[in-house]
Amino acid sequence: MTYETNVAALGEKTSNLIEGLWVKHMTGTLSFDEFSVTATRLLVSAQAKGVAISELTLAGYFQQAGLAVPAFQGLQTVASTDGLQKAVATIAASDLDTVMQLRRLATAEVMEAAGNGYQKAMKGYKQIEGYTRGLDSGACELCRWLYKDGFVYPAGQSMHRHKGCLCHPVPTFKNVPKG
Ligand SMILES: [Zn+2]
Ligand SMILES: [Zn+2]
Repeated sequence: MTYETNVAALGEKTSNLIEGLWVKHMTGTLSFDEFSVTATRLLVSAQAKGVAISELTLAGYFQQAGLAVPAFQGLQTVASTDGLQKAVATIAASDLDTVMQLRRLATAEVMEAAGNGYQKAMKGYKQIEGYTRGLDSGACELCRWLYKDGFVYPAGQSMHRHKGCLCHPVPTFKNVPKG
């Protein structure tokens, strides 16, 4: 499992769960408030799992480089419960396909949390010197251009991401022979 497949799988799983909750609401098993509260809680926990994927991925790179794996930072996601609840309510009130929008929200939240968590974790580890762009399997032209034949970006520079981008920084380390 790679960063990309893990994040995609989490996004898919979260989408399925939130869709299931919506179906329960539509069939009368859950009131709207129950749906909204449960869906928001689901999204917050999915965000935390997204961050955990990032920390695990980074730990894997330390291991590959023969370095001691640093203790997890246990990064807190800045969960905006209010914001999520509002997003869910907006979707439910809109005329557009609710399931499609809920799935899109779940996928986007997971990707955001994983991507932001990765960036924060990178900056927290002093051993990391820089990173190359780890392209996702469907990398667009811009992302491939930003790869720049394996150019090493400085660790302090945030990696450019865009909606739907599952590229991730592949760290290079201080005092480790490259190649
Ligand atoms: Zn791209
Ligand atoms: Zn990308």
